[in-house]
Amino acid sequence: MKHVVIVGGGFAGLNCARKLAAHPEIRITLIDKNNYQQFQPLLYQVAAGFLAPSNVAFSLRNILVKHPNVEVKMAKVVSADLATRTVVTEQGQSYHGDFLVLAAGSQANFFGTPGAEKFSYPLYSLHDAELLRSRILAVLEAADRDPSLVAKGALNFVLVGAGPTGAEMSGTLGDMIHRALKEEYPNLPLNEANIYVVDMGHAVLSAFSPKAQTYAAKMLEERGVKVRLGTAVKEVGSGHVVLSDGTNILTHTVVWAGGLRASDLSTSLGLRPGHGGRIDVQPDLTVPGFPEVYALGDFSNISGKVGDTLPQLASVAEQAGKWCARNIAADIEGEPRKPFDYFDKGIMAMIGRSAAVAEVGEHRHELQGPIAFAAWIGVHAALLSTGRAKIEAFVEWAWDYFGKVKGDQVLDRFSQADIDWNDDSGEDASGPSAQTTPTKSDS
Ligand SMILES: Cc1cc2nc3c(=O)[nH]c(=O)nc-3n(C[C@H](O)[C@H](O)[C@H](O)COP(=O)(O)OP(=O)(O)OC[C@H]3O[C@@H](n4cnc5c(N)ncnc54)[C@H](O)[C@@H]3O)c2cc1C
Repeated sequence: MKHVVIVGGGFAGLNCARKLAAHPEIRITLIDKNNYQQFQPLLYQVAAGFLAPSNVAFSLRNILVKHPNVEVKMAKVVSADLATRTVVTEQGQSYHGDFLVLAAGSQANFFGTPGAEKFSYPLYSLHDAELLRSRILAVLEAADRDPSLVAKGALNFVLVGAGPTGAEMSGTLGDMIHRALKEEYPNLPLNEANIYVVDMGHAVLSAFSPKAQTYAAKMLEERGVKVRLGTAVKEVGSGHVVLSDGTNILTHTVVWAGGLRASDLSTSLGLRPGHGGRIDVQPDLTVPGFPEVYALGDFSNISGKVGDTLPQLASVAEQAGKWCARNIAADIEGEPRKPFDYFDKGIMAMIGRSAAVAEVGEHRHELQGPIAFAAWIGVHAALLSTGRAKIEAFVEWAWDYFGKVKGDQVLDRFSQADIDWNDDSGEDASGPSAQTTPTKSDS
């Protein structure tokens, strides 16, 4: 019986495992540092308290329970020997396979920006989203108790990066602050809140068409978001952010949506990493020189039809996972492997309630507004791993859309409410004042 070891139970690894599970003659071990698959496209909805964590994280054992030939191990893989297809975990166990699939995803890339790793909130994991939700609620609660904290930046929020994550999070934060929470915080001057999106580039959603970019910028403005383009973040402090034009913004909530790189495991493989620290793979998704080792999804650079590199998208990872499973099965059956053929369904981003942009299919048929919003909901619900998750997410969205009740405004990471307001290392962009935030690391 052939054994396949898969590292990472995200879109790529989980879809590979599910597809391989249909072959009873293959044994699969799926290793992930978490016991769940997390659905990154909806993390910002957890951060804004519109969805509960259980709407975006799904037990791997539960998803795979009906497949006796799949074994799930919760462990962090710290090294991999590609020649012997053996991985070693943090706890010291090793797993050897006839085939090895590396699908360990991405992590935030802070590009060496001083203070960014320590003080800003990335948004790549469920843990990140829960910390951010608690911090957002903590500054609101603090300002509600003591309105003088507004002058110390309590209601200033800075998002670094105007790509899909930055645009989606800032638009949703605008909806949350200016719409959803008004009744719950009647004494809080929410109209004094400032939400900034800062990006070195010259467009919001740079991967989209100019028309979609203009629409997205307008939708953000309507939600009270201030867009600062052509501007870099030079430093993130405990209570402020310094921009390349010299502006100091007092804030205790900086969201890092400024870039990604392959997860740390990529540095332990003895390979020269490609762009973004990712592993460059061959057309059949194997690692050059290691015909039984595959690298997939955000962990890899996969070439598209015209020699371009495919973007880090859930649909690329999902399709690559299934394709890899087919190639492994073909190998075992003595059939030839096939080069990966990505079916491009397009790209989409949701800027807020009823506001989205979508470019559908390879030919990028453009949609905007409620119809794109509906398409976004349909596509993302379809990507969710379980039937129950699809139904629950729909109910939450419908509840939010048609009613006034908002999902899950729970401050459960108490360390995020431990804010030092007395640091005066920054100066408010809109007037003199100062404040601080301790490091965001948390349990
Ligand atoms: C905020 C956000 C929003 C996004 N929105 C969209 C969107 O709207 N549409 C879209 O198509 N794409 C979106 N993406 C991109 C999409 O989520 C990724 O492209 C996709 O998750 C990649 O899948 P993957 O399987 O390669 O990696 P992941 O889904 O990240 O899975 C990697 C897995 O590896 C595990 N892992 C990592 N290191 C180790 C280790 N050392 N040992 C064991 N396990 C490990 C992780 O726990 C994780 O479960 C978004 C991404 C983010 C961050």
